[in-house]
Parts: sequence; C-alpha cells; structure tokens
Amino acid sequence: MGTPKIVILGAGYGGLMTATSLVRTLEYNEADVWLVNKHDYHYVTTHLHEPAAGTAKDDKVRIPLKDVLDFDRIHFRQGTVSAFDPQAQTVTLSDGEVLTYDYLVVALGSEPETFGIEGLREHAFSIRSLNSVRIIREHIEYMFSRYHAEGGNPAYTTIVVGGAGFTGVEFVTELAERLPALCRMYDVPKDAVRLVSIEAAPTVLPGFDPALVQYAEAKLKEKGIEVHTNTPIKACTEDGVVLGDGQEIRSKTVVWTGGVRGNRVVEQSGLETVRGRVKVDAYLRAPGYENVFVVGDASVVFKEDGRPYPPTAQLAVQQGKACAYNLAALVRGMPLRPFKPELLGTLASLGKWEGIGIVGKRRLYGIWASLLKRGADLRYLWQLGGFPVVLKKMRYFA
Ligand code: FAD
Ligand code: NAD
Repeated sequence: MGTPKIVILGAGYGGLMTATSLVRTLEYNEADVWLVNKHDYHYVTTHLHEPAAGTAKDDKVRIPLKDVLDFDRIHFRQGTVSAFDPQAQTVTLSDGEVLTYDYLVVALGSEPETFGIEGLREHAFSIRSLNSVRIIREHIEYMFSRYHAEGGNPAYTTIVVGGAGFTGVEFVTELAERLPALCRMYDVPKDAVRLVSIEAAPTVLPGFDPALVQYAEAKLKEKGIEVHTNTPIKACTEDGVVLGDGQEIRSKTVVWTGGVRGNRVVEQSGLETVRGRVKVDAYLRAPGYENVFVVGDASVVFKEDGRPYPPTAQLAVQQGKACAYNLAALVRGMPLRPFKPELLGTLASLGKWEGIGIVGKRRLYGIWASLLKRGADLRYLWQLGGFPVVLKKMRYFA
C-alpha cells in the first residue's frame, strides 16, 4: 500500500480534535489526511445558546478552520456528506464528488430527536448549528417587532422552550437575560412577555444531582420563567404547542430542545446504529469495520454499569485524541489502545454569570460554576489552537 489516506467527516469537537492530534502525531509522509465539513469554520456548539438568545455575537462561537489547521498538512474539503459506504470505502458529497479512503473517521455529530411528535419538525426551531441559532435570534426579534402591528397579540411575545435538559435550561436562562433589552428595543410591555419552559419529567435536568436541580429550578423561577414539569409536549402547530393534558399555549416561537439522535447520514450508511449512533468497540471502531472509527455524538460508549455515557463535547474531545492515537498506531502497524473516558464533571450556565456544576464530588453554584465553565471553555480553545486562538476569543469571555 502507498501512503494511506485518512478521511475525517465533520469538524466539530470530535473530528477537529482527531485532525489536530493526528497532524501532531504523524510525520508528513506517513498519511494523507483529509477533512470534510459543511462549513469552513468550526462552531463551538457548547456556546450556541448565547447567539441563539442574542447575548453573544456569532464570532464567539465561530472559529475559522484556517486558524486551527495547517492546510499544508491537511486537505480540507468544504462540502456536505450525503452518504458514505463502508464496504466500498467511499464518501459521496452532495455535489456528486466521491472520495475514497483507507481509514475513515465519522464525526458528523447529532441532530434533534423529535420522537415523531406531530408538527415539531415543521414548526419548531432547534439549536444545532450556527445557522440554526441565527434564525432563532432573528425570528424572536421579528416577532417582537410585529407585536404592535398584530394588535398586541401575546402569542408574538410568548416563547416556548420544549425540554428542560441542559440545552433547554442554558438557552431559557440566557434568553431571560435578553428580554428586558428586547422589550425596550420594540416598546413591548414587560407583562406581555412569557417565557415558558416545558419538561416531560418530574424536574428540570432529570437525572442530575438533586441539590443542583433544585437550585436550577429556583433560579429559573427567579428569572421569571414559567416552569411546567410533568408536562409532555404532544404536538406543535404554527400557533403554539399542545400539551399532554390537551391544554394549548399560543406562541409564535417554539424552540425544541427535547433531545438528540445521531446524524441520519450515519444511520443510512449500513453501519449498525441505535437512534443513529454507532456502538463502537473498545478502540472506537464500528462493529465489523477495522478501518472505520466513529467519535462524538455519532458514537455511543458504555460505562461499567452498562449505561451509555451521555453525548458531550468533553467525551467527543477525548475520543478525538484517542482516535488519532489509534489511527497513528494502525498506520505504523503498532498495537491499538482501548479508549478510557476520564470525565472531570459537568458545568452548565444559568445565564451570563451564573451556573451550576459538579466537579469530582464537589457541587458548584452561581458565579463559581460560571467562572469554572469559562475556564473549561478557554482550555478547549487552547487545546485546539494554542495562544493565538485564545487571544482572539478572550474578549468574548469578559
Ligand atoms: P458537533 O460538534 O456537532 O460537530 C459535527 C460537525 O459535523 C459540524 O461541524 C457539522 O457542521 C458537521 N456536519 C454535520 N453533518 C454534516 C454533513 N452531512 N456533511 C458535512 N459536515 C457535516 N457538551 C459538554 O460537554 N459541555 C457543554 O457545556 C455543552 N453545552 C452544550 C450546549 C448546547 C446549546 C448544545 C446544543 C450542546 C452542548 N453540549 C455540551 C453537547 C456538545 O455540544 C456535543 O456533545 C458535541 O458538540 C459533540 O461533538 P461532535 O464532534 O460529535 O459533533
Ligand atoms: P437531553 O436529552 O439531555 O434533554 C432533553 C429533555 O427534554 C429531557 O429532560 C426530556 O425529559 C425532555 N423531553 C423529551 N421529550 C419531551 C416532550 N415531549 N415534552 C417535554 N419535554 C420533553 O437533551 P439536550 O439537553 O439537548 O442535551 C443533549 C446532550 O448534550 C446531553 O448529553 C447533554 O448532557 C449535553 N449537553 C451538555 C451541556 C452541559 O454540559 N453544559 C449543555 C447542553 C447539552
């Protein structure tokens, strides 16, 4: 075999970390590394709720790939993957180009899971990419701008967030902080605005540490957010949502944060998947294919107790590094190393300067959680592109 060709699909947390680590590990002539991504930038998914709410600029979350990748070492192909075939060892892009590979890394992330709930796909917005959150922000502003023209119809200033997992809670608390400015901007009376968080489970952040859940729920209420727990959304229409008990909430803005599933391109590839995610082996390879690795939200790995790790950026980054190590080992004919996650904890924001978290066994509340989350975010930027990238983004963290 000549120089092996490695193709990485997706430049999110998992794909980009694989690419940067691989380039640091391999010598110039050891492999031909390709990266395919929809955009010529990486978006920091963990901050997407901020531009969605309009509390941060798009540039906080957008990192041009040229700032973190050495294009002399990596062939970057901007394009949308429409299919890949692990048997034929090909990747097809939406413009018809077909790439071949010796080794493949699938890091295409996730997409919203709507559980077949009627109308959600058609009428609800979701927080999944930079483009999707631009639409949410602009839509909310446009609805506020129409409030008076629509005879003061409160549906235009009622925002429903479906699902109070981490994404829903981070977004709704961020948006609560933007509402006073929106009211001023569009001369909307404060009491005409409703921000509603709807959760099917008995509490927000189901399954998380009970003391932190209680704190978060109290914070949501303190911020003026209406919290409805034990309340599943049954349907979504252009006029709002229908709840499990048949009650309706009239709203022109429904943001669905009810969960994620793996990317459909992965599901359609013929790889064995569960809700679009590939149950990878100990080395992060797809079952039956020794040359196909899957990392990030497109994969699923299990804890010792048999339960799956939740899909997070932290896990995707660690998988990216482990995948690069194993690819280099394969190229060099060396033994592979099993992947062992070392998760440090969970940190979530409840607005700009507030948060909650658990690190080791220690619970964190308020500003301390918020500061530590900023630290973790800056650490990620450092891992990605070192001091120049941290310096460029620093001002957005003040
Ligand atoms: P992604 O980061 O989503 O990257 C996938 C990449 O593939 C993207 O660049 C995308 O453009 C590209 N792509 C997708 N489809 C195609 C295609 N067909 N063709 C070409 N390119 C394609 N996790 C944490 O650990 N901590 C947090 O604080 C945290 N906060 C979050 C906040 C929000 C609002 C959200 C939505 C998620 C958060 N998460 C957090 C979860 C975390 O963002 C994901 O687990 C992580 O992004 C997964 O990384 P990934 O590389 O698998 O996918
Ligand atoms: P999730 O699956 O964690 O939460 C979805 C929530 O929606 C759940 O609480 C669920 O009960 C609720 N829900 C589902 N169907 C519903 C319905 N019909 N009506 C009302 N509520 C309904 O999804 P997510 O919040 O998007 O998170 C996805 C992944 O990203 C998770 O692994 C999460 O840990 C991770 N994440 C982490 C952070 C962080 O660490 N700060 C932030 C965001 C996301």
